[in-house]
Amino acid sequence: MAEQFDVVVIGSGPAGYHAAIRAAQLGLKTACIDAAIGKDGKPALGGTCLRVGCIPSKALLDSSRQFWNLQHLFGDHGITTKDAKIDVGTMIGRKDKIVKQFTGGIALLFKANKITPYYGFGQLQPGNIVKVKQHDGTEVELKGINVIIAAGSDSIELPFAKFDNEYIVDNVGALDFTSVPKRLAVIGAGVIGLELGSVWKRLGAEVTILEALPDFLPAADAEVSKTAAKEFKKQGLDIRLGAKVSKTEVKKKEVHVTYSDAEGEKTLVVDRLLVAVGRKAASKGLLAEGTGVKLNERGQVEVDEHCHTGVDGVWAVGDCVRGPMLAHKGFEEGIAVAELIAGLPGHVNLDTVPWVIYTEPEIAWVGKTEQQLKAESIPYKTGSFPFAALGRAVAMGEPVGFVKVIAHEETDRILGMHLVGVGVSELVHEGVLAMEFSGSADDLARICHAHPTLSEAVHDAAMSVAKRSIHKVN
Ligand code: NAD
Repeated sequence: MAEQFDVVVIGSGPAGYHAAIRAAQLGLKTACIDAAIGKDGKPALGGTCLRVGCIPSKALLDSSRQFWNLQHLFGDHGITTKDAKIDVGTMIGRKDKIVKQFTGGIALLFKANKITPYYGFGQLQPGNIVKVKQHDGTEVELKGINVIIAAGSDSIELPFAKFDNEYIVDNVGALDFTSVPKRLAVIGAGVIGLELGSVWKRLGAEVTILEALPDFLPAADAEVSKTAAKEFKKQGLDIRLGAKVSKTEVKKKEVHVTYSDAEGEKTLVVDRLLVAVGRKAASKGLLAEGTGVKLNERGQVEVDEHCHTGVDGVWAVGDCVRGPMLAHKGFEEGIAVAELIAGLPGHVNLDTVPWVIYTEPEIAWVGKTEQQLKAESIPYKTGSFPFAALGRAVAMGEPVGFVKVIAHEETDRILGMHLVGVGVSELVHEGVLAMEFSGSADDLARICHAHPTLSEAVHDAAMSVAKRSIHKVN
């Protein structure tokens, strides 16, 4: 006899744990299943984000940023130190401690909310039954009036660069190098390639990033990408565009990476190779025969705009469905579905999901880019403000980058905000908020911003849309 629940959630990552906690808050009897095992060999909740994604990568980005600043920025402040050294073991240990705090935190939240966790692999059967193969070898069946699939995503493996977890790694391996590789190659100049490439570059590795596309960060605003590329080059990140890798070989503790670009075939010899060419929905083995839930050609669970699969009581959220693979998009979908199940309104506006790349400078945006608006023939105007003219940024020694506001040419409604520079992972939310409230550039320009702060760059950029920025010549 299957155990009965109001809601059974498959996956305890960002989308899954938000769904489970919100469902429990709303008085629904909830179970949540997760198959992951932590570095300590014990079951770990929290998904990719908490175990091997957002949180550990930010821990390493922060450690490496401190080390880089010590060598490159402190001198300008008159602070000198001799013989700065990095102890990789301590840095990784700090990261592991943070991960444990947060994965353990989810277990505590589940307990406090009376959510029953199941540790093992869950497979959806017909009739809203989830069969769980538990780590102790036993099997249990859970019947949910509702089942929420939040299975997440896995790294894409290239057939010619199989992960061996020593020389050729994915993001998980690149979070756990035991020493700084002398030479690191990265395939893919996307979010993971840039963030983890930056970590090891700042710690002293020679980092070469091979990107198949001819343009750098084509999804970002073109001016943002250009500014970021210039800064990455200054930092010594060697980003090679139009570089298509065709072969890799591990020989005598070195990885030989063969790629071709406009000049022909080349081979790069490195000590470690990180493959960061995107992620795919983790839908393998998730659905038994006859559930009625469909996968699309990319292996994603098919859902409508409310994350419903079309099968009564079966929903899917987060990285395993359409839309950007971002933890916070999963957060919102998890909450929305729990609320819909409880009979409340639940909705996620995919048009206002912010993007952030945690490099130095940080890159962030929300809404449409100029390129997109041109392609869609939407008339627009822009206003921007450089951090080089902002008192607070200059006082911090962080003059790189800018904020750009894009508004509709006629209505002035904000259509996008694009930022590159210090602290923009926080500033982008002014754009998100303004867009959620259908705000105009003029609305943002009339909101008092504290001085001296970084957020004044947003204020001046909004004022600049109507050519009335105070701190620059319009
Ligand atoms: P990505 O899609 O961001 O970038 C992959 C890059 O690899 C692309 O530029 C692509 O053109 C390139 N590429 C693909 N095949 C290639 C090949 N054979 N040779 C050379 N280049 C190739 O993917 P990612 O960086 O692996 O990240 C995976 C997902 O995780 C993304 O959806 C991302 O949004 C998410 N993520 C987000 C954050 C964040 O929000 N800060 C951080 C990490 C990961």
